Amino acid sequence: QADTAMYHAKELGRNNIQFFTADMSLRAQHRMEVERDLRLAVSLGQMELHYQPQFRGSDGALMGMEALVRWRHPERGLIPPLMFIGLAEETGVIEELGAWVLDEACRQLSHWRALGLGPSRMAVNLSVHQLRSPALLELVRSSLLKHQLPAEALELEITESAAMEQPEQAIARLRELRALGLALTLDDFGTGHSSLAYLKTLPVQCLKLDRSFVRDIDSGEGEKGADGGPGNGAAISAATLALAHTLGLIVVAEGVETEAQRAYLLRHGCDLLQGFLLGRPETPAHWERQWCVAGA
Ligand code: C2E
Ligand code: MG
Ligand code: MG
Ligand code: MG
Repeated sequence: QADTAMYHAKELGRNNIQFFTADMSLRAQHRMEVERDLRLAVSLGQMELHYQPQFRGSDGALMGMEALVRWRHPERGLIPPLMFIGLAEETGVIEELGAWVLDEACRQLSHWRALGLGPSRMAVNLSVHQLRSPALLELVRSSLLKHQLPAEALELEITESAAMEQPEQAIARLRELRALGLALTLDDFGTGHSSLAYLKTLPVQCLKLDRSFVRDIDSGEGEKGADGGPGNGAAISAATLALAHTLGLIVVAEGVETEAQRAYLLRHGCDLLQGFLLGRPETPAHWERQWCVAGA
């Protein structure tokens, strides 16, 4: 991931002490330019949200959509979030960006609901910075009110690692959000090494099984478990599903790309599926065309 982060890669410069001073000032200058560009991008309306569907395992019903931000850069084209979210966090631009994402996702869901189209619930990703912000609760409350959405229509995804940074504060903030009636999901679960004891203290209703485990469910020979059985990804996926269900949590699998992965996950009772096999993140226009054709 980090190696594809264009704006970070550019900052690395040459790994040579002789260039240290020059690189330092270039780096500082570049950061300021990118920060300015990012800030401008939000206010100029260059950010857009694409939406990826989540389907129920038992009957394939569309249950929700995840909003995923992209930067429609006038010269560079469509820039994926991993290339700018990190910098947006470091520079504080995530405040504006995150507020815009929340408002836009609520606006879109409200629009779809009014038309009787699409899902009843929208999932929005929160950054660690947003989770720490005292303004978050009011931001969420006002976005719901503005777009006349019930709190149950909004799901917030927090990565396991974000929830583990200053855990007491995170838990307190999540409790407040939960008290509003929002659905809370632990994203990229399995990558943050949180303990079972910690998981039990988190007021989340849902775990999102990380894509890396889903990917390894049907990976080749080299990935087989020590006993020649299924690869680690398969074992971890099955164990996570069992653990989550024991704790009364819903499980979403992310990054489902193959029939074999889907079959395995369904066999182990996975509640919701998301991935390229079922639908990629697409523009609202794409989904509206699809739903209107299907409904016609
Ligand atoms: P995430 O929340 O874990 O989102 C899932 C990512 O996996 C998305 O990448 C999605 O396009 C991708 N994906 C979904 N299904 C598949 C699949 O079957 N195969 C593969 N290979 N990939 C799949 P995307 O859109 O590039 O987003 C990357 C990350 O950026 C997100 O990971 C999330 O952490 C962050 N992000 C995206 N939008 C926002 C946002 O509005 N706010 C914040 N704070 N973070 C965001
Ligand atoms: Mg997510
Ligand atoms: Mg995820
Ligand atoms: Mg992920």
